[in-house]
Amino acid sequence: MAPVQRPRGCSSTTLLLLFLSAILCFEQLVTGLQLSPKEEEVVSRFQEYLKIDTVHPGPNYYPVTEFLVEQGKQIGLDTKVVEYIQGKPVVLFTWQGMEPSLPSVLLNSHTDVVPVDHAHWKHPPFAAKMDQEGNIYARGSQDMKCVGMQYLETIRNLMAAGFKPQRSIHVSFVPDEEIGGDDGAKKFYYSSDFKELNVGFVLDEGLASQDGNYRVFHGEKTIWWFYITAKGHPGHGSWMFDGMALENLRISLDAIAEFRKSQFDKVKSGEKAQGEVISINNVYLTAGTPTPTGFVMNIQPSQAEAGFDMRIPPVEDVDAIQKLLDEEWAPASRNLTYRFIQKGKVTDNFGNPAVTAVDDSNPWWALLKEAVEKAGGTLAKPEILMGATDVRHARDQGIPALGFSPMSYTPILLHDHNEFLNAKEYLKGIKVYEQILVSVTGPRDQSEEPSSSKTRSGVLSETIHTEL
Ligand SMILES: [Zn+2]
Repeated sequence: MAPVQRPRGCSSTTLLLLFLSAILCFEQLVTGLQLSPKEEEVVSRFQEYLKIDTVHPGPNYYPVTEFLVEQGKQIGLDTKVVEYIQGKPVVLFTWQGMEPSLPSVLLNSHTDVVPVDHAHWKHPPFAAKMDQEGNIYARGSQDMKCVGMQYLETIRNLMAAGFKPQRSIHVSFVPDEEIGGDDGAKKFYYSSDFKELNVGFVLDEGLASQDGNYRVFHGEKTIWWFYITAKGHPGHGSWMFDGMALENLRISLDAIAEFRKSQFDKVKSGEKAQGEVISINNVYLTAGTPTPTGFVMNIQPSQAEAGFDMRIPPVEDVDAIQKLLDEEWAPASRNLTYRFIQKGKVTDNFGNPAVTAVDDSNPWWALLKEAVEKAGGTLAKPEILMGATDVRHARDQGIPALGFSPMSYTPILLHDHNEFLNAKEYLKGIKVYEQILVSVTGPRDQSEEPSSSKTRSGVLSETIHTEL
């Protein structure tokens, strides 16, 4: 903990001042974190946002909409609120660029948060309490109210500094991400409102990183949820015969376990990250003939079923996996059938892999990387996110999109008890976004001293401004 400075007021001779000073001293002792008055203001706006309860199921989105609209008004942004579905407002801010015909940048975040188990929280999840280390405890502090407010604080600062973006910047706050986003991001991304924005690049949420490197995500695994049903002859428990349902299913379970091992071994050996392999887990098994107290023990059941959660990286050959399912995991020849609960696709709407390039072929990526480095940060190797977020709707339309939440040295606590983000980390993230927005929305500063990176930026800037 940093040494506590004794406020000057503590030396006053009047009782009242002594009393007030004592409170001040106590406050500082309690918070321990040294924040400037401006930083305190910024952090308190974040806390205010966190205190608005938008928890599932059935969040009331109107108070949060009112709060955001007020923020936009204070900053001086063009504001639009659209309800594609009644009760599920999308808030859209625009900072008009000097050349509004250029492809714009969209900063997306979701306003909803997942449920909490109050019993496990050391501070109430909607009180946004900051402890002595500066950790702000609240549902949504990492996922992802931090990012939404950081976008707005960044714009507030850049406007105050007199920055004028070349291309327009849009900031969207969408509902329902945590329940799939069908009534939120999906409606927005496929609306005429979105089309009018002429979006060239999207930033959305990523994950905290436990070390000093910021994590960045350029694709997401797709979900296949399915179950296999096995049928066979029922029979006495004492009799061994071929074709019993459970035996048919067991052969499938063995084949799937072998496939799972082949993928998991690559992770264990360090050859691949979790995001780069196909994961498959058996999530339920049902079979047997139930009795009020258990199962009948001398009957072999005529049906058995197993459910699977499978996640596929966007670069995989899904036809090959489908073939495995048809020929080895659930072949009709063994009296097996399967049914999908969900079957996501790995390609975008044009049939290409739904990933954003993270090399110099993508000027947005180069600009982002350069900006993070300029802000004193480093990026970890780009990853495939294991879950699904709203940003898939941008990638599906062929729009370059990256998942990025600037939180370093932070435990990953999204959807967990006691989710928190440190105030200093939050403030540092705003500095990173400032650099990113300056880089991706230009204009490039021609007065910069000549350097190889400047030359490269100049070229990229030209490319990005003319071709994208
Ligand atoms: Zn999220």
